[in-house]
Amino acid sequence: MTFSIPGLAVARGIAIGRAVLVGSSRVDVAHYFIEPHQIASEIDRVRHGRNAVVEELQRLQGEMPTDAPHELAALLDVHLMLLQDEMLTSGVKHWITERLYNAEWALTTQLEVIGRQFDEMEDEYLRERKADLEQVVDRILRHMKGVPAPVAPPVASPRRKTQQDLLLDDTVDVPLVLVAHDLSPADMLQFKKSVFAGFVTDVGGKTSHTAIVARSMDIPAVVGARAASQLVRQDDWVIIDGDAGVMIVDPSAIILAEYGFRQRQIELERERLARLRHTPAVTLDGCHVDLLANIEMPGDAAAAVAAGAVGVGLFRTEFLFMGRMGNLPDEEEQYRAYREAVEGMQGLPVTIRTLDIGADKPLDKQHRDDSLNPALGLRAIRWSLADPAMFRTQLRALMRAAVHGQVNVLFPMLTHPREIAQTLAQVRLARAELDARGVLHGPTRLGAMIEVPAAALMVRHFLRHFDFLSIGTNDLIQYTLAIDRADESVAHLYDPMHPAVLRLVSEVIAECRLQGKSVSVCGETAGDVSMTRLLLGLGLKSFSMHPAQILTIKQEVLRSDTRKLAPWAQQMIDGEDAAPPQAA
Ligand code: PEP
Ligand code: MG
Repeated sequence: MTFSIPGLAVARGIAIGRAVLVGSSRVDVAHYFIEPHQIASEIDRVRHGRNAVVEELQRLQGEMPTDAPHELAALLDVHLMLLQDEMLTSGVKHWITERLYNAEWALTTQLEVIGRQFDEMEDEYLRERKADLEQVVDRILRHMKGVPAPVAPPVASPRRKTQQDLLLDDTVDVPLVLVAHDLSPADMLQFKKSVFAGFVTDVGGKTSHTAIVARSMDIPAVVGARAASQLVRQDDWVIIDGDAGVMIVDPSAIILAEYGFRQRQIELERERLARLRHTPAVTLDGCHVDLLANIEMPGDAAAAVAAGAVGVGLFRTEFLFMGRMGNLPDEEEQYRAYREAVEGMQGLPVTIRTLDIGADKPLDKQHRDDSLNPALGLRAIRWSLADPAMFRTQLRALMRAAVHGQVNVLFPMLTHPREIAQTLAQVRLARAELDARGVLHGPTRLGAMIEVPAAALMVRHFLRHFDFLSIGTNDLIQYTLAIDRADESVAHLYDPMHPAVLRLVSEVIAECRLQGKSVSVCGETAGDVSMTRLLLGLGLKSFSMHPAQILTIKQEVLRSDTRKLAPWAQQMIDGEDAAPPQAA
C-alpha cells in the first residue's frame, strides 16, 4: 500500500529506487560495497568475529563463580544461542554475497531484519530478547574492529534512472536509496564514494552538516523524516521527492509514472542550465557577481571548475580530520590535500577554512561531544586555540600550499577580540616555524567567518585585522535566533529571512563595502535560489555554494536588477512583509 512520509527538503531532485536500510549500531562501523572477489574474506571476517565472541562467552561461563546468580548463566546461554542462530549467519551471508555489503554493514542490516521480527512477537519475554541480540552483534562488531577491513573501492555514480528504465530493468542495477535513522557527516563522506541515488534520515535539520554533505553530493535528500527508518523495509520501492521534502513508499503505477515524468523534466532543465556555464554572472543593471564553490574534499575542485565557479569560497577542512580514530593528518598529508585543491582550481583562488570540528561534526563517534550545549562549547576556532600545536600544523600546511596558487585562510567562529589576537599570533608563529626550518611558503590573505551575532556587531574591529570576511549564515541564524540548526523539531523556526538576521548580514556587507574589503556569504542561503534576490538587494556581490547550485543561482542573477531590489530588501529588514518587485 502506498504511503508517504514527510520530512525536510535538503537536496533537490527526484530519486526512484529500492530502499537500503542502514542500521544504527552503537559501534562506529563503516558501510561500503565490496568487490565480488572479497566475498569470501568478508564472510570469514564475520566468522572470526563470531567465533571470538563464542569463545569469550564460553570462557565467562567456565569462570563463573558457583554462587553467581542463576539469571546470569541463563543470559549467557541465550547469547550463545543467538550467536549460533541460523537466521543471523545465513542472513549476513546473503547481504554479503547478494548485495556486496561489507561485513559490518551486513551484520547491522541483518540485526535490523531480525530485530523487527522480535518487535512483532506477542510474548513479552521473547520481545525483550531483541536487546540481547543487539548486545551480541555489538560484541561481534567490536571484535571485528581489530581485524583490518579492506579499503572501500570507489564506485562510479550511476546514471539517474527514469521510470522507463526501471520498468524495463527491474532486477539488475536498480538505483538504491539509503534510509537511516541518523548519519554522521563522516558516514555521508563514506557514502559520497558509493552508488546511492538519494537518501532519507529520521533526524536532522536543513543546515545540519549531514544535510550539507548530502547537498554536495547532488542527490535528492530528505532529512527529519521522523520514523522513516522504522516504517520502510529493506528493498521497498521508494520515491524521494527532494523538492517537496517527502518520501513515498511502495508507489502505485500512476505515481511512478508521474514522478518518472518529473525526473525527465529535471534532467532537461539541467541540460538547459549547463549552457550558462561560461556566461559571466552579471545582473541586468551591470553588477558583476562572483559565484564560488563550497567543497569538502580536494577532489571536489573538479566539480567546482566544471560548474564554472570563479574560485572556492569555502573548503571545509574538517572532513579531512573526521572518522580517523584520533589519527589526525600530519603537516605533510594536509599540505598534499590543500595543494591538490589549489592545483585542481587551475589558478583560481581557494579559500580554505581552518578546522571547524565540534557540535554536530564530531571527530568520530568515539569522541562524541556529550557536553550540555555542544554548539556553544569547544568548537571551531575555540578547539584550534585549545590545541595550538595542531592548529599550527594546519597553518603551516596551508602556507606551504600557498606556493602553488592563491590561498585565502578563513577562521571559523571567531567571537572575542582576544581570540582574534591569539589566532594572529599563531599565524605569525607558524610562519616563523617554517622560516626556521627553511621550508618554502607563500603569501596568504587572512579572513574571518562572521557567524555569531557578536562578530557581526563588531565588524569594524574584525576589518582592522582581516583582509576579507565570509558570512556563515547557517550558524549566524542558529546563534541569532537560538535555534539548533540540527534539530528537526524546531526547524520551522529556523528562518533565514528573520529581520534580525537580515539586519546583521546587511550591516556586515555595508561596512565591508565602505572599507573596500571583500565579503561573501558561504552559508546555505547563498545557494538557495529563493534567497538570491534578497541577498543581491542587501548589496552582496559574492556567493559561495555547492557546485551543483551555481548554475541555478547564476540564472537568477542574470534576471535581477539590484536597483529595484535594494528598497525591497530594506523593507524586509524593517520587518515589513513585502513581496519582491516584479521583473527585478
Ligand atoms: C555557516 O555556518 O554558515 C558555515 C558556512 O559553516 P558550517 O556550515 O560549516 O558551520
Ligand atoms: Mg559555521
